[in-house]
Amino acid sequence: MIPFSGNPLNRLSEKRADAAWIAEKLRHPDTLILPLWRLHPFLSGAGDAPRAGFVRPGLVDGLAAPDAVSVFLGLDGERAMFALDVSAAEDPAAALAGLGEFRELRGAAALLPAGDLAILGQARAMIDWHQRHGFCAKCGAPTIAGDAGNKRVCTACKTEHFPRTDPVAIMLATEGDACLLGRNKNWAADSFSALAGFMEPGESIEEAVRRELNEEAGVVAGAVRYVASQPWPFPSQLMIGCFAECESRALKLDDSELAEAR
Ligand SMILES: [Zn+2]
Repeated sequence: MIPFSGNPLNRLSEKRADAAWIAEKLRHPDTLILPLWRLHPFLSGAGDAPRAGFVRPGLVDGLAAPDAVSVFLGLDGERAMFALDVSAAEDPAAALAGLGEFRELRGAAALLPAGDLAILGQARAMIDWHQRHGFCAKCGAPTIAGDAGNKRVCTACKTEHFPRTDPVAIMLATEGDACLLGRNKNWAADSFSALAGFMEPGESIEEAVRRELNEEAGVVAGAVRYVASQPWPFPSQLMIGCFAECESRALKLDDSELAEAR
């Protein structure tokens, strides 16, 4: 399983705009809430074997500000699951003492079960998006959440804004039996990775792969083959994994990006 993929929830997007249905789910005794505090999700269980820390609504009602964002994540069977931003609380962990702790998701990711990790990534990406989009990109007026936290609407010009996902191409360049790995100039001396870069408007995935390889390492790629993709909620990328066949191993590095490549 690719980390952050394989979300088990039924997102039921057609119900997001049904305010009466959402309100009924929020009152339902079976509903569960995942609180996030300053983008750290609540995790239950032992420190080395955490789970997504969903709790009963009554436990978090007093923690969220009146205008706090809640996001309908989807259904687990018949049970509705929401994320709730409790960032306004000074010490929400105290109110949830004994049940778990708020933890930085990236550091805990390798310890979490795949399905939980995918839900936590969804929740973190959504709450982060709300925190960054309090004002309309068209006219500058405040925006408010709508559709159970799945869009924002401008209070002045009524423009609707939807959660964003930024595509990133990540590519393993190959030539014969060799592949190309690089080390970003900001990384530790022994950290190497496939090269990656944000896609630009008006570009196909294949074109972005060839451009990034040429800009960063000076290599010329021919055939590009898509392999798999991965959501990356820090804050909202989609990593698009490709293989790229290169014509030679000659490198010409962009030293503003790469310290080293082999
Ligand atoms: Zn506006």
